[in-house]
Amino acid sequence: MARIAFIGLGNMGGGMAANLAKAGHDVRAFDLSADALARAEAAGCLPAADAVAAADGAEVVVTMLPAGSHVEQVHADILAALPPAALLIDCSTIDVATARRVAQGATARGLAAVDAPVSGGIAAAGAGTLTFMVGGSQAAFDRAHPILTDMGKAVIHAGGDGAGQAAKICNNMLLGSTMIATCEAFALADRLGLEAQAFYDIASVSSGQSWSMTSYCPVPGVGPETPADHDYQGGFAAALMLKDLKLAREAAADVGAATPMGGHACDIYADFVEGGAGRLDFSGVIRTL
Ligand code: NAD
Repeated sequence: MARIAFIGLGNMGGGMAANLAKAGHDVRAFDLSADALARAEAAGCLPAADAVAAADGAEVVVTMLPAGSHVEQVHADILAALPPAALLIDCSTIDVATARRVAQGATARGLAAVDAPVSGGIAAAGAGTLTFMVGGSQAAFDRAHPILTDMGKAVIHAGGDGAGQAAKICNNMLLGSTMIATCEAFALADRLGLEAQAFYDIASVSSGQSWSMTSYCPVPGVGPETPADHDYQGGFAAALMLKDLKLAREAAADVGAATPMGGHACDIYADFVEGGAGRLDFSGVIRTL
């Protein structure tokens, strides 16, 4: 069992830290929020006074923070407190360039680092069923694997530094685009007098099929139970989808990749979120059509 510092105990990190403690690790936890820290303590973690105190002597540091600037700041604060060869695992969704920079900053000091963003929401974080997409060297991946397995059901090595973040934003760009396309198809089918159930029965076994259609159908009462059946509450917030689409757009601009569909999906979600729907599930975008 490892001595682990866990920094960032929000919606996702709270459940993940609890699962590490449940697996028997010695988890020293820190969050700027006193409430989040109290919940982590109740879940078996040892609360630390600050990030440096949590990291002091840790073999592994897990961060689950809002954005790249937070990860960069926390790394700048804690690197000097870590023993030689400590492993940094950043599970936040951040931009590829920052992910590469923080990993290289850590390895330059003789530490090991991986980016390991997740697929799966708050429920999967609590249940320990996340999917991790991991960027970093094979040696760092091999060390991170058993720790990530205690928080998830699948751990996949995507490639070198930043490859986990690249996989995450490419996947979510695809998801945002197929969700909007699926919503549009249901809206058009409706205008053409087609029952939603009939269209689902046909498209879900035809070439229009996608995960957005058959696993996360945006129409209430059709397909498996989804946030659409709960007035678009819970699920994956539209604001987080917008965040990921913006990261994809920035990454595409950085490397000169053409992503017209992803860019358009970003604009559509920006309008949806600016209209006050940021907390709704992202499939609620069907309401705008
Ligand atoms: P959150 O806002 O609930 O949690 C972030 C936590 O970080 C907060 O508790 C905040 O107080 C803490 N924090 C910020 N700066 C800090 C600092 N300097 N030191 C210590 N703590 C600090 O966010 P979340 O929903 O848990 O998401 C975390 C990350 O996971 C994000 O990058 C998000 O994009 C990604 N993600 C979220 C989901 C989801 O469904 N919520 C799904 C996949 C990925």
